[in-house]
Amino acid sequence: MQANSQRIWIKNPLDSLDQAYAGGIVIQNDIIVELIKARNQPSQAVDDVVDARDHVLIPGLINSHHHFYQTLTRAFPTALNKNLFPWLQSLYPVWANLTPEMIAVSTQIALCELLLSGCTTASDHHYLFPDGLEHAIDIQIEQAKKLGIRVHLTRGSMSLGEDQGGLPPRTTIQTDFEILEDSRRLIKNYHQYEDGAMIRIALAPCSPFSVSEELMRATADLAQNLDVRLHTHLAETHDETEFCEKMFGMRPVDYLEHVGWLNNRTWLAHGIHFNEEEIARLGKANVGIAHCPSSNMLLASGQCPTLALQEAGCPVGLGVDGSASNDGSNMIGEVRQALLLQRLRYGARKITHQKAFEWATKGSAACLGRDDIGEIAVGKQADIALFKLDEIRFAGSGSPIAAVLLCGATKADKVMVAGKWRVLDGQMVDVDLDDIIAKQISLAASLARA
Ligand code: ZN
Repeated sequence: MQANSQRIWIKNPLDSLDQAYAGGIVIQNDIIVELIKARNQPSQAVDDVVDARDHVLIPGLINSHHHFYQTLTRAFPTALNKNLFPWLQSLYPVWANLTPEMIAVSTQIALCELLLSGCTTASDHHYLFPDGLEHAIDIQIEQAKKLGIRVHLTRGSMSLGEDQGGLPPRTTIQTDFEILEDSRRLIKNYHQYEDGAMIRIALAPCSPFSVSEELMRATADLAQNLDVRLHTHLAETHDETEFCEKMFGMRPVDYLEHVGWLNNRTWLAHGIHFNEEEIARLGKANVGIAHCPSSNMLLASGQCPTLALQEAGCPVGLGVDGSASNDGSNMIGEVRQALLLQRLRYGARKITHQKAFEWATKGSAACLGRDDIGEIAVGKQADIALFKLDEIRFAGSGSPIAAVLLCGATKADKVMVAGKWRVLDGQMVDVDLDDIIAKQISLAASLARA
């Protein structure tokens, strides 16, 4: 198989989400150029054929919320068995000691784990910039380029320390001026506006309880002026609603509107504790929601009202969330979690396997403000994942596409991003994963000791 073929035919997949391309798809450079019906041939000669008769073909999965650095504090002893606020307070002092090398290696770990699980676009929310770590996002970009995954990196921020009524320790916060200047710099240096963009920047105050009202407003203005998206955590727990009411005298959605964020530039992580009237307002404004089922279950935060939000007009996507509250970065695993958790709320008839896949592909793409990814269609980016059902967990399964979720697939066999193979035979292409894992283990140990 050649990585640089001009036209590749992914031929006769075992199964897919749409029988319109039962004969496969043709990819030219980084674009899907033809869908082939069953028993048909491509209209033009191809340079390479990938026989997919043993593979389920899906659009590359899109992770709409993560904190890569948290892979260094998975199952962290002092944060175990806690809800969100005490969990955060246990971890903030640890995260305050992150180093540039830790950012580089934890980013590699998170991105490799995502790619290996069928993910082709990853969004990250990084909001820790203690002294020495001012270039955390630049480091993430360098790693994403090396690994060839598409990224939406959100420039997070915290400006309210513990002594100002916020949650984070003072050493982890920055001034509004520093935050806005660096946001401008990152957008100018890295944000790609065009279709097929591999790197985009968004602006992302950590949460209403970690930045000032002025910074929320200034961030919304800057995002509008430079035409980038806005992201934050919202309505994750009841604690947060109480905090908002106490601090600002209003509920989280009212606050969001108050600071100029209730619009279609915004996507929110979690979005659990909304009342009916708030859901209608969010839907009318087309605010996107990144549903993070594993994290919501682990921190006992609650269940996102996904279908109600979608019916109201919100795009709904999926995210693995930070790896200290999941504690993995397995994207196909997260699609299964969404299916299971949302069935408890809405029943099996409404929450189908197709619905769960839709959240993780088209839904996440819409959260990120994109229509060039998240779908297998002519003209879309060639981002695909192929799953092989050759493990014991699939033995005896009937519907291959449903089996990927119901039998609990954990790894893709092949993953292509923008027309280039990044995973082949279940392994990263040209990446020494053992070396990265060894470094991560050693850095996590030193962070725990710091
Ligand atoms: Zn998060």
